[in-house]
Amino acid sequence: MPLSPFLDVETPITFKDQPGIQSAVFYTYIPLCNLECFQCHNKLSFDGRSGFISYEKLDNKLNQLKLLGVELIIISGGEPTLEKRLEEGLKFIKEKGFPVRIDTNGTVPGKIEELIRNKMVDGFALDVKIPIKNVYSDEEKERFKQILFSNKLENDEKMFWYVENLKKSVEKIKKFAKKKPLPLENYSQLTILRTVRYPLLTEKDIADIKAFAEATGIPHQLNSFYSVEA
Ligand code: SF4
Repeated sequence: MPLSPFLDVETPITFKDQPGIQSAVFYTYIPLCNLECFQCHNKLSFDGRSGFISYEKLDNKLNQLKLLGVELIIISGGEPTLEKRLEEGLKFIKEKGFPVRIDTNGTVPGKIEELIRNKMVDGFALDVKIPIKNVYSDEEKERFKQILFSNKLENDEKMFWYVENLKKSVEKIKKFAKKKPLPLENYSQLTILRTVRYPLLTEKDIADIKAFAEATGIPHQLNSFYSVEA
């Protein structure tokens, strides 16, 4: 049987990722990401040995997850929107009756739009990693490039590429969240914005991110930062 686009690794089951909803997390190829975030846990903990799970094994796994009461499948990575066979994998999961949330860094708005148009997704967790503004001081640019690329000397253009794409993705997700009927009973919202409280962010940065998120009308979740070295 052919291989799916998801890694053949242990599947975490969590109530925390989507608060109150028992969810299982699948991963696309972890090194496939266009950012190099400061201490990316997924990349740093991926040993590179895992291959992709076959559709046969995925089918069995989804049946087991259903028996365990899992209600939602979360797709993480890497950056799932860069995975060429993502839709094929999502279709398989959705045909098994699961709603799907995609965790994304928001840098590929065209793919987000395509997933929405093709009704491949029920929600997004979109990371807003830095304050979204038009102008940044040199000091801010250094800190934010360190967050996004683990390199404060990265090209400024690359930082603005992130900011512009993120804004476009937020606009698309905002419209989608307003229209999308809720796929689960008693469920409030499958689409969220998320921010990791990187030590490189100041309290003022966090306040700016919160204000940006609030203006979108999409719920915002602030997550603690855990050092990979801890
Ligand atoms: S976007 Fe996600 S997967 Fe990519 S480097 Fe950042 S934290 Fe890691």
